[in-house]
Amino acid sequence: MKLKKIAFFCIPAHGHTNPMLPVAAELVRRGNIVRFYSFDEFETKIKATNAEFVSCDRFLPELTKQEEAGLKKVSSTEMTIQDIRITLNMDSFLSEEFAAFQPDVVYTDAVCFWGKLNAWKHKVPLVVSVSTFAFNQLSSQYMKNSPKEMADMIFGLPRISKELEKLKPFGYHVNNALSLVQNDNSTDSVVYTSKFFQPYAESFSDHYAFVGPSVFSKARPQKTKERPLIYISMGTVVNDLPDFYRKCIEALKDLKVDVIISCGQNMEKKIPDKLPDNIKAYPYVDQLDILSKADVFITHCGMNSVSESLYMAAPMVLYPQTNEQAAVARRVTEINTGILLQTDTVAGIKAAVEEILGNASYAQNAEACSKDFRNCPGTAGAAEFIENAPHPSAGRDLLAELHIQSGKAQGIYWAIAAILMIPVGLLIGWRFVWMIGVAAGVLSYPIGQIMQRKIYQKITGTLGENHA
Ligand code: UDP
Repeated sequence: MKLKKIAFFCIPAHGHTNPMLPVAAELVRRGNIVRFYSFDEFETKIKATNAEFVSCDRFLPELTKQEEAGLKKVSSTEMTIQDIRITLNMDSFLSEEFAAFQPDVVYTDAVCFWGKLNAWKHKVPLVVSVSTFAFNQLSSQYMKNSPKEMADMIFGLPRISKELEKLKPFGYHVNNALSLVQNDNSTDSVVYTSKFFQPYAESFSDHYAFVGPSVFSKARPQKTKERPLIYISMGTVVNDLPDFYRKCIEALKDLKVDVIISCGQNMEKKIPDKLPDNIKAYPYVDQLDILSKADVFITHCGMNSVSESLYMAAPMVLYPQTNEQAAVARRVTEINTGILLQTDTVAGIKAAVEEILGNASYAQNAEACSKDFRNCPGTAGAAEFIENAPHPSAGRDLLAELHIQSGKAQGIYWAIAAILMIPVGLLIGWRFVWMIGVAAGVLSYPIGQIMQRKIYQKITGTLGENHA
């Protein structure tokens, strides 16, 4: 097969960059040329894959204090706006790069706008790297937005529309931000999980490759040791949680366990100076190595951390910080490989860890999941999928079928609401019929979701216990 020139793009985040690295290494190993557009923080990691590294730091916008605070709180409005600004800053540079490098394929993180938009603009086949679950209208039901997040999204819309308008003169035509971030059934996509772990996996078309977690390690889980090992990490983004680490230390210091905490930079501000003998803390660790030995992982439920934990057969105590992480946590509890931390108190943490250590079924289920992940196509499968892009549409598109049937069901729902207005009008009075309209409107969302699930169940006939 002809060797390819492949342009990689990612946002400056470890959780999004990490799964792309073994794929880059594999593509280079197979003789392709990989050029990775990223940021200085990731230079060493990227160069270790033998891909070419291109620094894009100079295109990062200067942030106001308010914008920085919004990004720290993982505000989706702030992230979307920054993504658009970086795209604009990079426009002329990337036009020159596309002309000079002439990539055969673009492989870009799903929320990296400049990667996607430039692939479309320069008409280069696009493959999207999905570092979370793939989210379509069904699987996104796993995400419950808090009222604060809803407000952030609603009030952020006018600002986002204004920024999107600025893209048009540069040849990027985007109607709304959702169309840039949601996974659709016609875009070639690599998802770093298995079909078993992905919620509503059957609703994704053949344009999706579920390749399993993308990890460098070939290590097998190795749990034999004198006493259990508890590993704690809140990931690389929202890890400024000194109070939580303090409670974990308090909860675990008297148990017959060893504890390793990874807390991110500025460790001195997060972890007490003196630690009990059985507890060690570091700013950054070799997570896969530790997970291969760990018996419990107290995690923020980042997709990578959870996948790595299951890959290494480590059951989890789940402490999600964002709605996306809550979606991952929900799936972990559905397959009984972890439990939610009910209260983030000293007693709550201790009870949760003891529950996982005391009930072997969590470890056994995690072991089964580890086997499932190791049977996936892996990085070699991802590399092959990218080399062969674009992929033709084939097979059934269950989501399209769902759309048609949901549309019909919606029609029936509104027809019933309209018919109900007649007896209400005749018996109670015509001035009250608007109430039926309002009630139908309010109920249409939850009823719509239930109807969708039922229709999906009917279409697939497989909506069993894996899709509670
Ligand atoms: N990680 C690591 N060492 C650490 C902490 C994190 O190697 O001490 C890696 C971890 O293995 C995972 C990534 O950083 O691949 C974190 O990604 P995740 O999606 O779990 O969370 P995020 O940092 O994006 O919130």
